[in-house]
Amino acid sequence: MPYSTFCPNYTTARNRFRTSALALGCRLEAYSIEQTGPDGEDLTIDVAILRNPNSQKIVVVSSGLHGVEGFFGSAVQCALLEESLGSWNQSQDTTLLLLHALNPYGFAWCRRWNEENIDLNRNFLLPDEEYRGSPAKYGDLNVFFNPTSPPSRFEPFVAKAIATILRYGITSLTATLPVGQHDFPQGLFFGGSGSSKTYQILDANLSRWIGNATDVLHIDFHTGLGKKASYKLFIDDPPESESTQWLSEKFGADFVEAYQTRKVTYTFRGGLGSWCKARFPQCNYKFLTAEFGTYPIIDVVEALRAENRAHFFSPPNHPSKDWTRQRLMEVFAPADEDWRDAVVSQGLDLVERAIAVL
Ligand SMILES: [Zn+2]
Repeated sequence: MPYSTFCPNYTTARNRFRTSALALGCRLEAYSIEQTGPDGEDLTIDVAILRNPNSQKIVVVSSGLHGVEGFFGSAVQCALLEESLGSWNQSQDTTLLLLHALNPYGFAWCRRWNEENIDLNRNFLLPDEEYRGSPAKYGDLNVFFNPTSPPSRFEPFVAKAIATILRYGITSLTATLPVGQHDFPQGLFFGGSGSSKTYQILDANLSRWIGNATDVLHIDFHTGLGKKASYKLFIDDPPESESTQWLSEKFGADFVEAYQTRKVTYTFRGGLGSWCKARFPQCNYKFLTAEFGTYPIIDVVEALRAENRAHFFSPPNHPSKDWTRQRLMEVFAPADEDWRDAVVSQGLDLVERAIAVL
């Protein structure tokens, strides 16, 4: 079944989300991040709520925490509003909360990072954590990951990556890059030097949206990690915990993966999931980071590195501004129709299952 809910840009996606949500009778809210998009448009996080006043269960579906990955998350949310929820009614036992474009700047400008170059999934530090520090090896690897010159299409990236791996070891790379860092504001995976606008908006409003719910099941949609057109549900609960067992039972043990037991192990701070769970200790808050695969990880890292260089070091109108953006778009939202159909369909199934099992 073909899905046409992938939008060509942030503004179209935002309008489509709001129109579909209104048609279904959702309550809508919008929060400006006080930035503008390529056409001067205001950038907002949009929120749609289908509330059941008698329910203490909430399914939360969020998109675009990583900007450009929002093309996919938004497509699932729009398909959900337009195709799956037609039969939704007040007798339904659940409230549905949709958070659209958590990083509207990255979505609008085709970046993974936000307006301050922050990786928002490294910015949600817990109250006792500080916005400082980096993995020990980040300084060594900074020269390779964050060159201070415009990118070239002809750079032998793979050869350089192999040389870097041989020099420092694959483990030092996988245990460094995705962990996040607070010392290189123009570098990849920067966690910020303070709380982001998105953090502040969620901090101010999430408790009102959650209300007096006792059970929350939150799916946060991402792309760029894993096997093409398939997905994994990452959780940061301990592998033997009751919630891990429950999630594995309901969503399939083959799909649910605890961060601690990943083949490539790393622990990171500032994840949205751990923050949400800590913020609502009175709730049974379950959080799934749904990662949908696109391209091999080496292609994804190459695209991120090139786009970041062009963003900071290419002069205005330099051709690298365009090709790096297009490449980033392709690795996080492939144009291939079969991929798009498959992932939106899987995403819809996931949300429908979440509503059914909660
Ligand atoms: Zn992501």
